[in-house]
Order: sequence, then C-alpha cells, then structure tokens
Amino acid sequence: MNEIITGLSYKDSIPISISIKDGIIDSLKKNETLEESDLFIAPGFIDIQVNGYINKSFNSPGLTVNEVNEATRALWKTGVTTYFPTLITNPQKTLVDNFKVLALASNEPETGLSIPGFHLEGPYISPVDGYRGAHSLEDVRSPNWDEFLELKNAADDKILLVTIAPEVDGAESFIKNCVQENIVVSLGHHNGTTEQIKKAATLGAKLSTHLGNGCANSINRFKNPIWQQLSDERLIASIIVDGFHLPKEVVDVFYKTKGYKNIILVSDMTELAGMPPGKYNWLGKEVVLTAEGLLTFPEQNVFAGASLPLSTGIENMMSYTGCSLAEAVDMASKNPAQLHGLSDRGEIEPGKRADLVLFRMEENKIIIEKTILAGKTIYQNVDS
Ligand SMILES: [Zn+2]
Repeated sequence: MNEIITGLSYKDSIPISISIKDGIIDSLKKNETLEESDLFIAPGFIDIQVNGYINKSFNSPGLTVNEVNEATRALWKTGVTTYFPTLITNPQKTLVDNFKVLALASNEPETGLSIPGFHLEGPYISPVDGYRGAHSLEDVRSPNWDEFLELKNAADDKILLVTIAPEVDGAESFIKNCVQENIVVSLGHHNGTTEQIKKAATLGAKLSTHLGNGCANSINRFKNPIWQQLSDERLIASIIVDGFHLPKEVVDVFYKTKGYKNIILVSDMTELAGMPPGKYNWLGKEVVLTAEGLLTFPEQNVFAGASLPLSTGIENMMSYTGCSLAEAVDMASKNPAQLHGLSDRGEIEPGKRADLVLFRMEENKIIIEKTILAGKTIYQNVDS
C-alpha cells in the first residue's frame, strides 16, 4: 500500500498529494479535494555545514557514534533530512579519529540515511587573524595531499566538500587533486587576491564558504576577496542567514548578484545550537548564548559560531530579499543536492527519496509539524 501525504506545495501553495512506495516518491498529483490546509510540504532541508548540535561537537576528541546519532535525531526536528557533519581545523589525530567515528555513524541503519558525507573546513586555510576566524592557529597548515589521503581513508571516502584558502602554498595542486577525486572545493577563511580566486575557479573550485564571513573586519574597500567571489559566475556562495552573521542588505546584494540558483543556505551551527540560552564554556572560554540565538565571546565581543537552524535561514531569506518560499527552500535543499550530485533528494519528484518536511508558517516563522525520511515519519510535532 502506498502512503499518501497531502498539503500545499512549497512551490506555488497548490494542494498536492504525494504517493510514497518503499521510501521513494511514486507519484505527485494536484489534490482537488483537499479541504482548507495551512500545511506546506517541501523537500527535506539539506545543511552542508554543521559542526555539532545539542551539546554534541563533531570536533571534540572522543566523539562517539551515539552522539552523532543523537545530534542527527535532534536535527530532524528542524526539518533537516540530510546534512554534512563538519570538521574544522584540528590536529591530524583528532581529524582521523573523528572521521572514523563519522564514517561509522554514516552507516547506521536509520540516522545514517541523513549523512551522505562530510565537510572538511580547514586546516588548509589562512593563518591570518580575522580570516582564520575561530580556527586554532596552531593547527592551521599548508595543503598536504598525503595527509589529506589519510583523512579521506579514515572517512571511508566520504569527504564530499573541502574548504581551503586559495592563496596558501600548495593550494593549486590540492584543488586539482580534489577535483580529480570528485570532491567539491570551496574557498573560505581566505584572503585570496582576484587572480588567486580566478585561478582556483579555473582549476575547478565551485563554492565560496559562508561568503562575507571568515573575513577580517577591516579590509580594503576594493581589493578584498568578497568582490571577486561575488563577481565570478563560476562560484556558488554558501551564506549564513541567521540574522547575525550578515546584515540584511548584504544578504540582499548577494541574492541579487548571484541569483537564488547560485546560493546555498548553511547553518554553520556549533554544538551549543539547540541548547537553552545561558553561559557556556566553549573552546576553553566563556561564551554566551542569548534567547535570540546570538552566540558570542563577551570578552572580545566576537561571534562564537552560529546557533540557529537552516529553517531560520529560509525565514530570513524571504524577509530580507522578498524571495518566494520556493526559492528559499531551493537554496536549502535543491541547490546543495545538485552541487554534490545527490540526485536522489532535494526535490519532490517521482523517483526521488521521500525526504519531506511539513510545516506551517506563523508570522514568517516556520513551525515544523512533521519530518519524513525515506518515507518514514521520523519527527512529529506533538505540541500542535
Ligand atoms: Zn568557517
């Protein structure tokens, strides 16, 4: 028996019926008989940059498969059905150990369906303050293919995305090697010149990681890495639209320049995401998480990472740019799926895996009612 899911299409608010068979979307039809509904249906959200969640850090030594499973289940409540656990700049041993754990987690019977692979952000980034962001200076290093192969192996060949700085020694050959191995290269935490950015894109780099962040506060108004990445049509931009990392007008300019097909929303959440507001110890320092989701080191008054889920990015994208729900959802599902060749997800179409999120919109807020992964309900909002 096929299971039928009904609601309003995220594309045009028209009532639809989705028939699911064996975890796959079997058919999609207009639903002429659906009574009044305010429930939208969209493809499950895809977040290619998640450092941790609900106090489980993918970057902590001693990470366990259980912790990854718990984080995954909690992410389902936010409408995310696919994500890339992200490891940042760390000692090689931590990266090897944690990629091994993540590889095991990606093979778990149910939660593993949400983890097609991983994002390695660093350690091959700019050592310079401001560009380096919160990454540890001690562990930043130049690209080394043999060292990377050790990580790739530990990760069971599931590193799908690598963020590097194009200006560091050895970046060019590293990009070539990644492209040959079908690994998507992204530029981030860098101060590349126009020529270095162009060269990286020519070699096959496809993405800019959290464009506008991972950049020093004081930069030359013309000679800075943001303009070239904005202007280069070969580069898609990932952006953090949590309301804190980029001002509204900057998001709007990025949207207008790149077009929605070339933007990917990421949460870049740290492990304090999903936790109640308060003071926490993070990377050995006191950080504060406000009720609004702002995460800062009060001592330096700088960001301590992001704490709001991808659905907040969708909400903000709509209110900052006036874009439609359809465009905003594509930026959080179809676009990342396409970039990474995840052809079984990111859209509601016959043949795709039945990864769906059902939600209501209340005053521009997305209230997740149900999340479906490969045809199975994995989250249901019991409050409503
Ligand atoms: Zn970063």
